[in-house]
Amino acid sequence: MTNMSQRSFLRILILAAQFSFTAGAFAAPITLRIDATEAPRKMYHAELTIPASPGPMTLFYPKWIPGEHAPTGPITDLSGLRITSGGQTVVWKRDSVEMFAFHITVPQGTSAVNVKLDFLSTPDAAGFSSAASATSELAILSWNQMVLYPRGKTSDELEVTVQLRLPEDWKFGTALPVARKNGNSIEFKTVSLTTLVDSPVLAGRHFRRIELTPGETPAHYLEVAADSDEAVNAPAELIEKYRKLVREAKALFVARHYREYHFLLALSDQIGHFGLEHHESSDDQARENYLTDATSNLVGATLLPHEYVHSWNGKYRRPEGLATRDYEEPMRGDLLWVYEGLTEYLGWVLAARSGLVSADLSRQFLALTAAILDNRAGRDWRSLADTAVAAQLLYDARSDWESSRRGVDFYDEGLLIWLEADTIIRKQTQGRKSLDDFCRAFHGGPSGPPRVKPYAFESVTETLNGIAAYDWKGFFDARLNRTGTDRAPLGGIEAGGYHLAYVEQPSEAEKDAEQIRQMTNVAYSIGLRLNQDGSIVDVLPEMAAAKAGIGPGMKLVAINERKYAPDVLREEIRNAKKGGTLDLLVANGKAFSTYKLNYHDGEKYPVLERNAQPPLLDEILKPLAR
Ligand SMILES: [Zn+2]
Repeated sequence: MTNMSQRSFLRILILAAQFSFTAGAFAAPITLRIDATEAPRKMYHAELTIPASPGPMTLFYPKWIPGEHAPTGPITDLSGLRITSGGQTVVWKRDSVEMFAFHITVPQGTSAVNVKLDFLSTPDAAGFSSAASATSELAILSWNQMVLYPRGKTSDELEVTVQLRLPEDWKFGTALPVARKNGNSIEFKTVSLTTLVDSPVLAGRHFRRIELTPGETPAHYLEVAADSDEAVNAPAELIEKYRKLVREAKALFVARHYREYHFLLALSDQIGHFGLEHHESSDDQARENYLTDATSNLVGATLLPHEYVHSWNGKYRRPEGLATRDYEEPMRGDLLWVYEGLTEYLGWVLAARSGLVSADLSRQFLALTAAILDNRAGRDWRSLADTAVAAQLLYDARSDWESSRRGVDFYDEGLLIWLEADTIIRKQTQGRKSLDDFCRAFHGGPSGPPRVKPYAFESVTETLNGIAAYDWKGFFDARLNRTGTDRAPLGGIEAGGYHLAYVEQPSEAEKDAEQIRQMTNVAYSIGLRLNQDGSIVDVLPEMAAAKAGIGPGMKLVAINERKYAPDVLREEIRNAKKGGTLDLLVANGKAFSTYKLNYHDGEKYPVLERNAQPPLLDEILKPLAR
């Protein structure tokens, strides 16, 4: 602006006005009217008015969903598509290659198209934001599921005004700014399509809004909708820990890149359980008893910290390959070990610093994670980097043969690598600096409304070098790209004063996780993970059960002629150490076979034990905020 004369500025304004008349660029916003009154029967009705010029036009249904890092837009659940313009029916034709694109011809003499569509919300609990998200009592609305937009425009360019009708007596929470409200009808302020898709709505009959930073700017809210009134009754001590989470995140990052922050927490046993990050909110979905049962909360304790960290790491700072211009441009996941791996690490750290998990239990959960990764047969052929590049496939991969296939390991193995990086910084600087300083430098900058600052790998290593000089490129390269090794990167645990060991008694963390997930884990003794009914979820290829010929999908019926129950299996594993046999009767479809296991080492469960190094790990988990 400083170099521009008043005169030429005026000319540009006039040109812009003419341009918008003729070409429709930056024209009136799209209007989107959503009728969510039938959410309990899993049906939404949407009506859009989209400014358009006569001639060919392509409408696009969001395909690549931010935060899901994959083309997971639920296109098969788009139904009842009808397009009209100036009162005439407009014929649509799906592109025969790009299934998310619909071609139309806008009639002469019209300036908009009207689109009607229904969104069919699945009852199936798998599939992240496209999973079950509506019950008789609550709903999470993801706008990307109910919108078509003109193909070719960036999501920043397009503006949308939304009107929403909710079921009678439902309340709601969202980061989307409200323009006006009338009973169960809400009109939101006009925002870009980017902001809209980034701002889901949580609504429900049993709703509670808790201010986490009363009287402060920015405001922070914990907004809970649940399947029952009891389930929103979080104990005061737990709410205090979420308040502490906000203070600890401030102490960690200093700057904040949101105007307000809303934790949108949906609690139901009938919806998918996961979290999806946004700039100014998070879509957090958990079991109905998440706030009222201490074990349920503990096993999922990192959910809110993880998604909250993403406001900085993932939303504000985003890998170039994930900072896409619209919902059609494919995402590239090669830096997901930063986006998700560092978030997994900081979520684990903040859960401890805010008191959601004690330091002792944090170490116990870390032992479970480390043991899974330290028994990944798939390291032999697949690098960690490849799990990130192939994330768009692996999110959907089954859990059978997971050890051989590898899963989305960049989360948990990313945690181990960032822990190691933290210990290196602390050692290199004699304790003067830590990864906290990296976060302040990398995720800092001025506080303010959401914006995206994309980065490449080099800016990660450059910022790290600014904190502590080290061969960071070589450090990451060795851990990301190697194959043929059978060990996880456990250097951070060891430099942190601990080592991974196996003992005969399961830790509290192990028992809690098994109870909540209804699983039996004897992976580190005989190599089996089972459901409660004995069906085998996975085998570890190097262990006795797999060596005897057992595979996933089979069902354990009896051990040494005793009917299968988790405790019976554990007891017989103990007996085998005293010289007993381990004869497993297993059903494989219609066939039954007995497998004789050659195993006499007793039960084995992972723990962290102290080594000779100073306990840096405990230092890392100590609160920063006063
Ligand atoms: Zn995440």
